[in-house]
Amino acid sequence: MGQGKTVVRFAPSPTGHIHIGNARTALFNALYAIKRGGDFILRLDDTDRLRSTPEFAAAIEEDIAWLGIAPAKTVRQSDRFARYAEVVEALKASGRLYPAYETPDELDRKRARQRARGRPPVYDRSALKLTDEERAGFETEGRAPHWRFLLANHDGDPFEPRSTQVAWTDLCRGEQTVDLATVSDPVLIRADGTYLYTLPSVVDDLDMGVTDVIRGEDHVTNTGVQIDLVRALGGKAPAFGHHNLLTLASGEALSKRTGSLSIRALRAAGLEPQTVASLAVLIGTSHAVAPYADLASLAAEFDLSSVSRAPAKFDPEDLRRLNAKLLHDLPFSAVEGRLEGAGLDDLNAFWRAVHGNLDVFGDVEAWQAVVAGPVEPVIDRDGAEVLSAASDLLPPEPWDEATWSAWTSAIKERTGAKGRRLFMPLRQALTGRDQGPEMAGLLPLIGREKAACRLAGRAA
Ligand code: GLU
Repeated sequence: MGQGKTVVRFAPSPTGHIHIGNARTALFNALYAIKRGGDFILRLDDTDRLRSTPEFAAAIEEDIAWLGIAPAKTVRQSDRFARYAEVVEALKASGRLYPAYETPDELDRKRARQRARGRPPVYDRSALKLTDEERAGFETEGRAPHWRFLLANHDGDPFEPRSTQVAWTDLCRGEQTVDLATVSDPVLIRADGTYLYTLPSVVDDLDMGVTDVIRGEDHVTNTGVQIDLVRALGGKAPAFGHHNLLTLASGEALSKRTGSLSIRALRAAGLEPQTVASLAVLIGTSHAVAPYADLASLAAEFDLSSVSRAPAKFDPEDLRRLNAKLLHDLPFSAVEGRLEGAGLDDLNAFWRAVHGNLDVFGDVEAWQAVVAGPVEPVIDRDGAEVLSAASDLLPPEPWDEATWSAWTSAIKERTGAKGRRLFMPLRQALTGRDQGPEMAGLLPLIGREKAACRLAGRAA
């Protein structure tokens, strides 16, 4: 049989900013599409018109792009209400969508009674027993119905549900089954006429030719119901993959309220998109967490079957460490454009000197300032002898990365100072700081003129 084009989708509700856990889902889908030459659809699940906003939708598009994902298209569920209404009519006509009038309180009481009798709290379908008069009575009372999907878990008598296994081979978890007899007929439309996510999602997946649905494992039970709905609509169910969820090391789940881990906040903190993407994908898998330069190289390495079953626990500090490692490994060619305008002669030498000392790229500014000056030298009286020898012995230019070692050897010979007593006064005078990149790389960038001033205690 011919295999059609892979189509995946990432389907956030634009009711908040996406966080690194949502990014994990988006990236799993994107990598899956890259690997198979497929399409990635960004689908904004904005049927909740009160909580969805165009600002959050725009922010999600921006965040996705920042991560390196290029959707083949972006669709909004709010543009598709006419299509959902059509499907609703078809389901009503086939008897698979029925009105129910119980209030939330009544449903609670029903469930409590079922539990008290040791039965699972599955909806008993009493609404199917209502006569036309009873329904009319509710309507005159001003009760609007909510609408439930009649699951195909019976042999003709919906009051005699039978064990009905819906099975699929999960892309992450292997063989999965959901018994439809253990699930209540899902509400597809609320009493106020708004859609819950199930129907629009299934209709969109079918209409848009989605071949693979990759999402968090909180959706496993939904999948049983959704496959049944796909069948009721005469469609072919996509493949499903349910990945473990990202949690904090404490076990706490991420939520849209965990604002510091929103993609926006991570970007504002100066992290590289590749860092966030590499961590979001690789944590909680059998792969080592390492920085990958782009999504194509992540896609080549990563496979959904490597996702573990246990939650993917992570410590936000891991992001900093991974970012430093990424910057450490980045060649000059990858950052050249971003360094331009730094006002330095030799950007390549500057990058070589400082990249091992950066946590975030923005840290380059501090080192540019150290190189370009003016720097207020820090002069410690205990270092006076070293500094005066250093001034005397300052070699003529041109300088290179070997200058530091030759110069400090000469100072050591003259003064007998070594180790910290030798190096700390020089670093403090030349950079105004106690710590930083290797001086061998910085010294030629600072240059003789400024170095001479700083050694003499003058800002330069
Ligand atoms: N809007 C749904 C969610 O964010 C989409 C779930 C799905 O991928 O089907 O949970």
